[in-house]
Amino acid sequence: MSEQARQSPAPQPDGATHAAELLVHLARLVHGVSANTALTPAQWTALRYFASANRFSRTPSAFSEFHATTRGTASQTVKSLIAMGLLERHTNEADARSTLIEVTALGHARLEEDPLRDLIQCIEALPEDRRRAFVATLSQLGADLSRCRATPTFGKCGDCGHCDTKGSSSAYCRCTQSSLNGDDMNALCIDFAPAAHGRG
Ligand code: SF4
Repeated sequence: MSEQARQSPAPQPDGATHAAELLVHLARLVHGVSANTALTPAQWTALRYFASANRFSRTPSAFSEFHATTRGTASQTVKSLIAMGLLERHTNEADARSTLIEVTALGHARLEEDPLRDLIQCIEALPEDRRRAFVATLSQLGADLSRCRATPTFGKCGDCGHCDTKGSSSAYCRCTQSSLNGDDMNALCIDFAPAAHGRG
């Protein structure tokens, strides 16, 4: 090492760079060496996705958008989980030409060992106000980065500009033109549009 290199301190990352690096580090830690390696990170992500996506989004192509991967790669991941008995194909009652992917009982049991649980517990341990602010910040970053990359933003009905709650009974989705039940309201959706940008 040269004398000059020994004397010059390494440049310190600014706050934004450090935050971005921390996010990537956290994501890597979830599936690090001490995690449950029964499934690959992509398989865990797929299993988790199909357990939390709504009936409009439980397709391999929607998963490919969520996982920011190609349709071919997403399809291979789904097929591998079907072969393991963790996912299965069901007829889509809204569109007989397509199928929906559902998590099997074995898949739900496997999710009990999800390596993401350690991070969930760490987040749950935060004081409520910090947790809420953290979730709001991450949601904002997700929306901003998706806009930057021209990819869909995934979110839930309660925060969606397509969700109409003015009716007398259940909420209504103006995008899919469907009534929304409790399960729909709590699930991830590929058609989500952040309320600040989507509500008209
Ligand atoms: S209201 Fe939004 S998030 Fe809910 S189903 Fe419709 S598009 Fe998806």
